[in-house]
Amino acid sequence: MKKLFFLIAIVYTLGSFGQKTYLHCGNLMDVQTGNVLSQKTIVISENKIIEIQNGYLSGAAEDKIIDLKDKYVLPGFIDMHVHIESESSPKTYINRFTLNDADVAFQSSVYAKKTLMAGFTTVRDLGGTGVNIALRNAINKGLIEGPRIYTAGKSIATTGGHADPTNGRRKELMGDPGPRDGVINSPEEGKKAVRQRYKEGSDVIKITATGGVLSVAKNGKNPQFTIEEIKAITEIANDYGMLTAAHAHGDEGMQRAIKGGIKTIEHGSYMSEQTMQLMKEYNAYLVPTITAGKQVVEKAKIPGFFPAVVAQKALEIGPLIQNTFAKAYKTGVPIAFGTDAGVFPHGLNAKEFGYMVEAGMPVVEALQSATITNAGLLGMGDELGQLKEGFYADIIAVEENPVKNVQTLEKVVFVMKDGVVYSNN
Ligand SMILES: [Zn+2]
Repeated sequence: MKKLFFLIAIVYTLGSFGQKTYLHCGNLMDVQTGNVLSQKTIVISENKIIEIQNGYLSGAAEDKIIDLKDKYVLPGFIDMHVHIESESSPKTYINRFTLNDADVAFQSSVYAKKTLMAGFTTVRDLGGTGVNIALRNAINKGLIEGPRIYTAGKSIATTGGHADPTNGRRKELMGDPGPRDGVINSPEEGKKAVRQRYKEGSDVIKITATGGVLSVAKNGKNPQFTIEEIKAITEIANDYGMLTAAHAHGDEGMQRAIKGGIKTIEHGSYMSEQTMQLMKEYNAYLVPTITAGKQVVEKAKIPGFFPAVVAQKALEIGPLIQNTFAKAYKTGVPIAFGTDAGVFPHGLNAKEFGYMVEAGMPVVEALQSATITNAGLLGMGDELGQLKEGFYADIIAVEENPVKNVQTLEKVVFVMKDGVVYSNN
């Protein structure tokens, strides 16, 4: 008898897993072609899209119907450059001394949720304290709400470089960080740093190939790695199948990164015409981060928001980013959508679309960049970034046709990730 009840329980549980969701989509954006398809039903079972049908269909009595008849439905967006653990503020520099990992974890869970609610169902985190790895795991376990995260864990820098975690400290607090903390000074140490990231659970590798704006250091654009160091890093990253990214403002450091085998160049502020050609030749992608460029300029004008040395770099470098993007796009450099969220408040990632369009990129191409292109770079081109049979059910909706009003992308009204509805206004 007990066995029978057990069997009934199992059958019942399996039955409820069989429940499907029918999304009635008034306007379905095919990001591949840019066409808006009207009156479609997306059928979702568990976490996958199992079919897309013409008209509005409904399944069995236990199946769920979601009405998006007056909305524009798109695949969830992918941001290739966020820092999910933090948000820039005048407290950023002191926070390193006052926040424990648990504090970072709690705040990052809030930022993760904001990001997801903004329609970004996948992000690549390009560096923090390493708490981002635990955050990814917690989201994957369903403990907290957030996007799919591909994380670099900690960035890799050279001594005194942009991501040296002890920059700007007084001497006895500086210590001498090594590969374990993401600081290297030879090809051998570069290899060790990549293997250390792998051991800790990072998915991708990020290096800071040149100086940067927000670090407490004089120069925002000097090259900070030798090409031998970069080659050693990409060689090992390739062994482990880890996508590589290089923060780079200055041209020389950028060239070394591209020739050294780095796949995505972040910011690219001072990118020359010659480097743009190099990007095309090596099929390297520019991740524009225009929103961050705009934000640092605005904040640098507020007295005391940044340390003086940072404010000066922000005013110098920030204004270049959108123009560089415009030129790179026109030259045919491959573009991967990415914002540097965390430098500006999380959840505003979609502002980047408007800035890309303002710089000359058609809306459909900006959408492709944030979906198909980024999914491909993450090795998920057959599972993410499009609404197709067999793909993960990462689906969002907005009120208007984004091709007619790109700002509508900043007001996402429906979010589904992995077949679960997180927001439906
Ligand atoms: Zn960044």
